[in-house]
Amino acid sequence: MRILLVEDEPTLAAQLAAGLAAAGYVVDSAHNGVDAHFMGDTEAIDAVVLDLGLPQMDGITVLKKWRAAGRAMPVLILTARDGWHEKVAGIDAGADDYLSKPFHMEELLARLRALIRRAGGHASAELTCGPLTLDTRTHRATVDGQALALTSHEYRVLAYLMHHQGEVVSRTNLVEHIYAQDFDRDSNTVEVFIARLRKKLPPRLIETIRGLGYRLASPQ
Ligand code: CA
Repeated sequence: MRILLVEDEPTLAAQLAAGLAAAGYVVDSAHNGVDAHFMGDTEAIDAVVLDLGLPQMDGITVLKKWRAAGRAMPVLILTARDGWHEKVAGIDAGADDYLSKPFHMEELLARLRALIRRAGGHASAELTCGPLTLDTRTHRATVDGQALALTSHEYRVLAYLMHHQGEVVSRTNLVEHIYAQDFDRDSNTVEVFIARLRKKLPPRLIETIRGLGYRLASPQ
């Protein structure tokens, strides 16, 4: 899952980027409203953490422009302490949730998990597909209760497929969601991750749809 992190305060931005990466997310960072708007408008982003007080273009304007253009990804806004009017303006502009500064990283991660799973139509933090279970809180995947040993990239591929189970996901789509913008992306690596995942998963869980991509679905 790929997160766009928009925060102009360097220390906080670095802390948040580190915390999100440690939680298994791919992180793209923007430090002003203009870059943020461009990245959210052009990149395949699964969720946004958006500070409202930003140089060049404020967060509310960025959010309104995304929504006006039909960009529907979940957005969690960061507001000043006691900034109730900011929260109201943010929610009216299309924010899905908010956090007031200062906050605990754990709370930000919990809210983000909830936004991402709701965006995918999942009510629980634990995603299941046949014998396979993925706990998005602990990043543990199990098959019939047995834990799978996954690398961080294998986890990202599996998490993306689990959030979109039953749908055909193209290789390009996977590449866009498992690597950040500035990463040297190679779509051949996706095939490698899929091949490794298949060795660890029950047969036929990940289907190849010729010419289109992959689909994770319970074989029954
Ligand atoms: Ca700020």
